[in-house]
Amino acid sequence: MERKITWETYDEGQLEELEKLNTAYREFLDNGKTERECIDTIVNTIEARGYRELESLIQGGEKLKKGDKVYSVWMNKSIVMFQMGEKPMEEGINILGAHIDSPRIDVKQNPLYEDSSLAYLDTHYYGGVKKYQWVAQPLALHGVVVKKDGTTVELSVGESEDDPVFFVSDLLIHLAEEQLKKSGAKVVEGEALDLIVGSRPLVIDKNSQEDGGDEKKDAAKEAVKAGILDILKKTYDMEEEDFLSAELEIVPAGKAREAGFDRSMILAYGQDDRVCAFTSMQAMLDVEDTERTLCCILVDKEEVGSVGATGMRSCFFENAVAELMNLNGEYSELKLRRCLSRSCMLSSDVSAGFDPAYASCFEKKNAAFLGKGMVFNKFTGSRGKSGSNDANAEYMAHLRGILDKEGIVYQTAELGKVDVGGGGTIAYILALYGMNVIDSGVAVLNMHAPYEATSKADVYETYRGYKAFARGACL
Ligand code: MN
Ligand code: MN
Repeated sequence: MERKITWETYDEGQLEELEKLNTAYREFLDNGKTERECIDTIVNTIEARGYRELESLIQGGEKLKKGDKVYSVWMNKSIVMFQMGEKPMEEGINILGAHIDSPRIDVKQNPLYEDSSLAYLDTHYYGGVKKYQWVAQPLALHGVVVKKDGTTVELSVGESEDDPVFFVSDLLIHLAEEQLKKSGAKVVEGEALDLIVGSRPLVIDKNSQEDGGDEKKDAAKEAVKAGILDILKKTYDMEEEDFLSAELEIVPAGKAREAGFDRSMILAYGQDDRVCAFTSMQAMLDVEDTERTLCCILVDKEEVGSVGATGMRSCFFENAVAELMNLNGEYSELKLRRCLSRSCMLSSDVSAGFDPAYASCFEKKNAAFLGKGMVFNKFTGSRGKSGSNDANAEYMAHLRGILDKEGIVYQTAELGKVDVGGGGTIAYILALYGMNVIDSGVAVLNMHAPYEATSKADVYETYRGYKAFARGACL
């Protein structure tokens, strides 16, 4: 069963639309390098398209009607959006879901220290990373520092041309004979991923140092650290203690780029899973007048198991659906359960793109290829499909009908050869309600690396597929 090369199916108009979508996608990636930044970007985008905040509608006791657009943000890291359809929600809704957190390096709560006249931020990596990939390259620092009085300072350093960047050092090859004998997992250890943030001592006035108290002597002892604290104080009005209530994320510095002489690909940080988040959001914005209510959930914490108040396992999604049904005048516990169990979902996440350099890890007939369209993973999991949401054949058949009718190019895949590895997504969590859920999304090369690659054609085709699903799914 050979699948089509998506590029070969497009006419001039579609190619133009493809480029436009991918330009917007790169902008989305540049503006959202953390989950909080993604939420800001998404809220700005959707408010301009008529979406209103759920809480304000509840306050106003507003009744919802067909076509109304509503969103709810949870703790600045997750969002759920709805577009009201014609049918009662009790009959089920169509859900596009993806995640907006990405593998990265987080700053610890007590991070700042000085060693051998270098200032460091101590770190703890987040999600599945090959640690050796994060050394010796320009890194940026993004996040928030929340002070005791509740004010929030937003930080983004390393993205504009004249910003400084940061880096993690690596051992020079000349001295690396022993290091290179270690296994890949140990070549760079987790505690070696500390970020170098400065090397210039704070110059202290000689006279004042002699008659100064202990505080000034401390500063002289760790003068580079003191210099960094001085800059933090002047720039952000923050004290060292404020790191205790900060969330700072270290990500590759720089923008998303087109890749290849033919500019056919995107090379960028965080495409897992912002490629599905962006295309899901965009599909939702571009589909008008549907029979079923549409929903798009973009969540945090997928990379660490979907836990926590902002992960998919949190009740915030279910609560939002209940609130919406209440505004719609159709809430009851039973109707909520019916709504959720009769819904259809695309759990969208990136899929492993076939990599000829590592062909032995894939089984070619059941692998996803860059440029061959939207990917469906009927099941995920590891070993004997452990942990998998295995979508129902009837559901897959229903989706095939919808996609073929609209001429969407798609492929089916699993994550590598049997017993080579595996992975999971948020699919199994929504499936707990009894709804139809299938994994779908975009094929990626070097998934979870600082820079991941996708095909522009797949980004476009997946967006088209999501629109077809939003309009047509009803099972
Ligand atoms: Mn993912
Ligand atoms: Mn991932």
